Parts: sequence; structure tokens; C-alpha cells
Amino acid sequence: MKSLPPPSHDKVLFTPGPLTTSLSVKQAMLHDAGSWHWEFNDLVRSIRHRILALAGLPTGAQWECILLQGSGTFGVEAVLASVVPPHGKVLVHANGAYGERALLMLQHHRTAAVPWRTPENVVPDATELDRLLAEDPTITHVVAIHCETTTGILNPVETLGPVVRRHGRVFIVDAMSSFGALPLDFDQGGIDYLISSANKCLEGVPGFSFVIGRRPDLEATAGWARSLSLDLLGQLRGFDKNGQFRYTPPTHSILAFDQALRELDAEGGPAARGARYQRNHTVLLEGMRSLGFRSYLPAAVQSCIITSFLFPPDPAFTFDGFYRRLSEKGHIIYPGKISQADTFRIGSIGRIFESDVRALVHAVRESIAEMGVTRLAPPA
Ligand SMILES: *Cc1c(COP(=O)(O)O)cnc(C)c1O
Repeated sequence: MKSLPPPSHDKVLFTPGPLTTSLSVKQAMLHDAGSWHWEFNDLVRSIRHRILALAGLPTGAQWECILLQGSGTFGVEAVLASVVPPHGKVLVHANGAYGERALLMLQHHRTAAVPWRTPENVVPDATELDRLLAEDPTITHVVAIHCETTTGILNPVETLGPVVRRHGRVFIVDAMSSFGALPLDFDQGGIDYLISSANKCLEGVPGFSFVIGRRPDLEATAGWARSLSLDLLGQLRGFDKNGQFRYTPPTHSILAFDQALRELDAEGGPAARGARYQRNHTVLLEGMRSLGFRSYLPAAVQSCIITSFLFPPDPAFTFDGFYRRLSEKGHIIYPGKISQADTFRIGSIGRIFESDVRALVHAVRESIAEMGVTRLAPPA
């Protein structure tokens, strides 16, 4: 009898990245690639084109995809450190930790920033943005987070972008946890720069982020970068010159990503992947509700990427105890990050399926029984 490759016995990650990847994506890393070698650099070029195709942008047009070493944060910081002129001012919408992190970056760069905060369970209103931009003509750039992974809220970037464009400002979108699964129309959304990473909905392993932007816009930023290694135009010029990353590339992560993109195609592309995540989310929400848990966000603003659940109001419940019990049963969940409520989070993304979610819900039922948690939600 022929032996099959061994299954992966890792615990299943219900997290927003790094996440559970397929065995074949992991196996793609069992090679050493030379960063100078043409085979590797052809692969880098192909990956840059394939990401533009996923974004629905034509190659050979003015759009470029720039890969950057590091996690998603490095990609966001590269954009903010590179495309804002020395006397620019950036309005940042924040209804979670990632909007706040963009503000923190600007503070570190000594770049003028205007926070536009809304509560963590409320999406921003385009008419309010219209007013903010009309009031302050010195604002040059606007930042919005597509899926704010802090809660799982889906911000309406496609209604904000046209307002930004009408006012002649530059629109930067952090689509870290949504790109590759949730649709975003660059043209309709008035998106100038978009940032995402290898290890979220594209189901690769950590190692690099990528930025999509127009070449003429990038060329116009020459001399503005406040960082050497995070200089976006510098990175693009490196790829222009010899097809290479400027500094040591994440070779294994690139090899894994190539395989991850093939598997995205095989699944049917972003629409099919989004449908799988939606199914995971629906099964999760129904299962958790049937146990008595309540989710934090109203359904109208909830994305299918990650879901925040309120702690049960029972003194027998502790997050640490709950987490440890689930881990012993093979499931890894995520702590909450919300400032206004005690929550934990469960992600629906990665190489996980409805059957994995059902198994998780079953383990949740067992875990709370073991803990003696009986009161789950306050009466609605
Ligand atoms: C994951 C994420 C980031 C980047 O986080 P890293 O941990 O640096 O990869 C940024 N923004 C959003 C919305 C995210 O979900």
C-alpha cells in the first residue's frame, strides 16, 4: 500500500493571522532559494503581477505591487513613512487598535495627524468625513481600515473613498485582514494605496506585506521617505533595477505564498474563498448562540473575518481557563482587544472549514461545562 503524506497534527488556529495553512503550503518551504537567482526573482515578479490581478487591476497599467519584508504593520508604516510629504497632515479613522496603531506611527514619524475616532461598534459616516475635510484643507491624506480586526467590524471604505477623492486628498486603505476574500473596487472606492499581508486571507505564512499603488503617484514621492528600509519608492526602484528585494528577501515565505496563490485559484478565487469564510462565520455564530453566547457587534456591521464574543457573566468563567481547555482539545482562539467590553475573538479565516468550526463549538460546549459556567448571556 502506498503511504500518503502525513497529516498536519498542529492545533487549529481560529485566529486572524498567522493562521492555519495547508500542508502543501508548508511543504513548499522545504527548499533553499538564492535571492540573486533568476528563478527566484521570476517568481517574485509573477507574485507581484498575480496580486494585482487578484485586486482586479490590469497589469501593464500604472498599478504596481510592492512586496516588503516584515509583517503587515511594516507595510502600513512604509506607506505612512513614504507617501506623506514633509508638511503633510493625515486624517486617520480609528474604531479599533489598527487605526490607533496608524496614529502611533505618525506620532513616531513626527507627522501631523488628525484622529477621527468613532466607537468600536460604529462605522464611520461619509457625510462626517465630508465635513472634516471641508473644514481642514491642510489634510493631505486619509487612512481607513477595511476590516478592523480588533472587533471584526467592516468599515465602509467604498463610501469614504469617493469623498476623499472629491476633496482631492490621497486615500490609504489597510485591507490587511480582508484582501483576497472580501471584494474592494479600487476605482469605485477611490483607493490610492492598499496594504495587505501574506498571512491573512491569502493563507500564506508570515514574512512579508505588500502595497498596491500607482507608479506615477509613487514617483512623485521621491525624497519624502522618513525611513531607509521602509522606503516604498526605494523598494520599487530596487525591483525595477534587478527584480530583487533591496535586502534579504523572505525566501521561504515567498515559496509558500506561490503555492498559496495556486490554492486560491484552485478554490475558485477570492469570491469562493469569501463564501467559505462566510459559511464558517455563519456556522460559528449559530453554534455559539445556541450555547447562549452573545456576539459584540450588531449584525449589520459584522464581517465574516473574525467575531468578538462577550464573556459570559458567570464568575466561573475566566479567559485563561477557557483558552487552556480549548487548546487541550486542539483549538486555538484569540483574546479580545476591545477597550469597552470583555470579549474573546474567534477567526473564520485560514485553511479551516465548517467541520472545524463545528468541532470548535463542540469543544466550547465541553469546556464551559467543565468550568461549571452556567450563566452565559444576560437576558436580552
Ligand atoms: C493583522 C493586521 C495588521 C498588521 O498586523 P501584523 O501583526 O503586523 O501583521 C494591520 N491591520 C489590520 C487591520 C490587521 O488585521
